[in-house]
Amino acid sequence: MTGTLDEQGLDRYQLALMGTFGRPLRVLAKGQGSYVWDADGNRYLDLLGGIAVNALGHADPEWVAAIATQASTLSHVSNFFATEPQIALAERLLDICGAPEGSRVFLTNSGTEATEAAFKMSRRTGRARILALTESFHGRSTGALTLTYKEAYRAPFAPLAPGVDFIAPNDVAALEAAMGDDIAAIFIEPIQGEAGVKPLSHEYLAAVRRLCDTHGVLLIADEVQTGIGRTGTWLAMQAHGIMPDVVTLAKGLGGGFPVGAVVAFGTHTATLLTAGQHGTTFGGNPLASAAALATIDAIESRGLLAHVKVMGEWIKAAVGALPGVVEVRGQGLLLGIRLKAEISAAVAAAAIEDGFIVNPPSPDTIRLAPALTLTQAEAEPFVQWLADYLAAHAAATEEA
Ligand SMILES: *Cc1c(COP(=O)(O)O)cnc(C)c1O
Repeated sequence: MTGTLDEQGLDRYQLALMGTFGRPLRVLAKGQGSYVWDADGNRYLDLLGGIAVNALGHADPEWVAAIATQASTLSHVSNFFATEPQIALAERLLDICGAPEGSRVFLTNSGTEATEAAFKMSRRTGRARILALTESFHGRSTGALTLTYKEAYRAPFAPLAPGVDFIAPNDVAALEAAMGDDIAAIFIEPIQGEAGVKPLSHEYLAAVRRLCDTHGVLLIADEVQTGIGRTGTWLAMQAHGIMPDVVTLAKGLGGGFPVGAVVAFGTHTATLLTAGQHGTTFGGNPLASAAALATIDAIESRGLLAHVKVMGEWIKAAVGALPGVVEVRGQGLLLGIRLKAEISAAVAAAAIEDGFIVNPPSPDTIRLAPALTLTQAEAEPFVQWLADYLAAHAAATEEA
């Protein structure tokens, strides 16, 4: 074989794995804190964190120890049995979510599965119609896909389940027109991550809560991307002082271990699914639960919620001031850098060549979702790099 170790690995990848993700960018071999290394030993500052997953960065020693200890104690049992980490995780989630008396948790392996459980809960209300927002992303299973907006994701799998209507985000009049006593639930993301980090306004979220109360509709907040400290509060909804009826979590919850959760607020919502109506083999197993508990404990004991707020504000100010940047959307360490030109794919491609991992969710926006532990010293070289890149781009466009 010829080429770098990285190229050899990617060639093997393409012969062994389905083409669903295209050709990956690199073969990554190891990670430490905010950095990862590829197969050839090149280092990258990971500003994407596995898409908002690696909350504590890579190979955090406390997280590693918690998993190793649990793996050598008890890693999996069937759901005919309970385990201490599973119980403790559910208790902890109820606590950090500020869930009232009667609330309950269902543990899953992924965000999609959390969506599925919430979708099934909404069916149990006895109402058939569901509202979701245009540009939403809730997952790729056929159930979750019915709630996901992007036509390219949906069309190849038609027909999907009926009964879902999409309305435009931040449009209170459209919401009022769509709401009614025949609606089971509305699925929202407080900040639409895959759409390019687009926040819902406080006014809109308040209207959603008010109309859900009026019509007896479940407010289901998909916090798979925004939850577990990503935006500087445990839930993004908490910054608005608005309590949903259901929250879905995953991504950052396990700090890199696959685990998700559905938190149902209050007795009525928590008892929509009864014995035998839902299940999972792996969901809530002690290994995943221990990883999630270690992640939550570390976020709390290291004061990361406050750190995330400070770092988010710092990046917003530093990057927002660059010529070529229109605005920086989002909260905490879920940020969308909107550029004047539609060059986000070119920026991301140039960034990785120079050792920075970022992602272009839409043509004019760069997404950052780094480790919650990211420091200013780590982030500074990227801000400088982006300043230089955008200046060079501006100069080149003027000449042309
Ligand atoms: C990533 C994501 C999902 C899907 O989670 P998976 O773990 O990939 O199944 C659902 N909703 C939102 C908002 C997400 O960002």
